[in-house]
Amino acid sequence: KKVLIVGGVAGGASAAARLRRLDEQAEIIMFEKGPYISFANCGLPYYIGGTIEERARLLVQTPKGMQDRFNIDVRTESEVIAVDSSKRTVQVRSVERGVYEESYDKLILSPGARPIVPNLPGKDNPLIYTVRNIPDIDRIKEQVSSRNNQSAIVIGGGFIGVEMAENLKEAGLDVTLVEGNDQLLTPFDAELAASLAQEMEQHGVHLLFSQRVQGFRALDQGIGVELSEGLVLSADMVILAIGVTPDTSFLQNSGVALGARGHIVVNDKMESSVPHIYAVGDAIEVKDYIHGTQTAIPLAGPANKQGRIVADQIAGLPTTYKGTQGTSIIKVFGLTGATTGTNEKTLKRLNKDYRTVTVHPASHASYYPGSSAVALKLLFTPEGKILGAQAVGYEGVDKRIDDIAVAIHYGGNVRDLTELELSYAPPYSSAKDPVNMIGYAAE
Ligand code: FAD
Repeated sequence: KKVLIVGGVAGGASAAARLRRLDEQAEIIMFEKGPYISFANCGLPYYIGGTIEERARLLVQTPKGMQDRFNIDVRTESEVIAVDSSKRTVQVRSVERGVYEESYDKLILSPGARPIVPNLPGKDNPLIYTVRNIPDIDRIKEQVSSRNNQSAIVIGGGFIGVEMAENLKEAGLDVTLVEGNDQLLTPFDAELAASLAQEMEQHGVHLLFSQRVQGFRALDQGIGVELSEGLVLSADMVILAIGVTPDTSFLQNSGVALGARGHIVVNDKMESSVPHIYAVGDAIEVKDYIHGTQTAIPLAGPANKQGRIVADQIAGLPTTYKGTQGTSIIKVFGLTGATTGTNEKTLKRLNKDYRTVTVHPASHASYYPGSSAVALKLLFTPEGKILGAQAVGYEGVDKRIDDIAVAIHYGGNVRDLTELELSYAPPYSSAKDPVNMIGYAAE
C-alpha cells in the first residue's frame, strides 16, 4: 500500500506516525512545502517573548528523525500543486527535484490553514508579518532583535493576536492591538473577554476596539496603519492576525468537494467526497459537537486526533470522529481564559432557548494562602443539558474547563456536575469544587 500525506505538521505527522505503528509494510511519503516538519506552531509566540529561549526547541521532529524512527519518506520544500484523482496521482513541485508526479493508493490531506491577508492598499509592505511557521517567526525575531525601543501594532484580537501582543510586550516593545469587533477573543462572551482585555491593558498593551484597518503606508521609518475616520497609527512593525483560511487552492479541479469558505468536506471517517482521499486538520469542515452544524475550528487537539483516526481508517480500524467541541485555553499575562462548547453569542444567533449561571468561587480553599477568584460561566438548556462553559482566573482555570469539557463529551447535565467527585486538598480546591458549585447554582 502506498500512502501519500500532504502537510508535515500536526495532522500530517500524527497520521504518519500512527499509520506506521499500525502497518509496518506501507510505503508512506510525506510532502511538506516548507523547510520544516512537525514544528511547534503553538509555541511560536513564546519564542518571540523569550519564554522559549532555544529555537531548536520548536523543532519537535526532524525529517531524519521521522525517517529513522518511523521509516517515513519525508520530502520537505515539496509542494503538492495538483491532485488527479482519476489517475490517482499528485503533482509535486520540489526545490530539489523540480516538478514530478507521484502515485497513491491512499492520499491524506493535512495542508492546514494560512493567515488571511486582506487585499488592502500597501499590504505588501515588508514590515507586515504573519505568524504561521518557523520562517515567519525567524523574520519576526530578526525584526524584534534589530534594535531596542521598537513599537508594534498587532491587528486582530484572536488567540494568535493576543499571544503575539503579550510576547512582543515581554520582548520590550510598545504594543498596540487593534480589533475590529468590540471585544477580544470571540469564543468568550463579552464579560469574560473584558477581564482578559483589562489584564492586557494593566500590562501596558494599548487596545483599540471596533477599528477596521483600511490600508498601510510606507513611512520614512516604520509603517503607518490607516484606520477608520482618518486615524493613522505608526509603528516599527505590524503583525497581521485576523484569522486563517484553509490552504486548499491546490485542490481546485481535483473533484474534492470544498465548503463555502474552501474547507474540505469530510465524513466521520475523514473521507473526502473522492474515494481514497482523506483530509484532517485546519483545512476541513467539522461537525460542531454541540449543535451538529458544519463549522471549522482550527485547533491542534482536533487536528492530532483526526490524524490518528485517518490512520486507523486506512488500517481498517473502525474509529470515527464525533465532532469538535472547541475546547481552548489562553494565557493572558497572569490570567488564564479557557472555554469549551458553545457560547452565548452563538446560542442567540441560533435562536436557542438556554440558561446561564456565573459563579466566582475561590480557586482553592480561601483559608490556604494564595487563592483567587475564578469567574466560571455555564450555559445549559432549560432541561439542564450542558452546552458550554467559560472561565477566567489566575489559577485552576484549566482543570475546571477540562472537567466540564468531559461532562459535555458524555452528554452531561447540571446535576452531573454536582455529583462529580473531584480531587481536593486545601492547596488545590475546596471540598465543594467550583465545578460542583456551578452545578448547585444551575440546578
Ligand atoms: P498545520 O499544522 O498548519 O500543517 C499544515 C502543513 O501543510 C503546513 O506546514 C504547510 O506548509 C503544509 N502544506 C500546505 N499545503 C501544502 C501543499 N500543497 N503541499 C505540501 N505541504 C503543504 N492550536 C491549539 O489548539 N492551541 C494553541 O495554543 C495553538 N497556538 C497556535 C499558535 C500559532 C502561532 C499558530 C499558527 C497556530 C496555533 N494553533 C494552536 C493552531 C494549531 O497549530 C493548528 O490547529 C494545527 O497545527 C493544525 O494542524 P494541520 O495539520 O491541519 O495544519
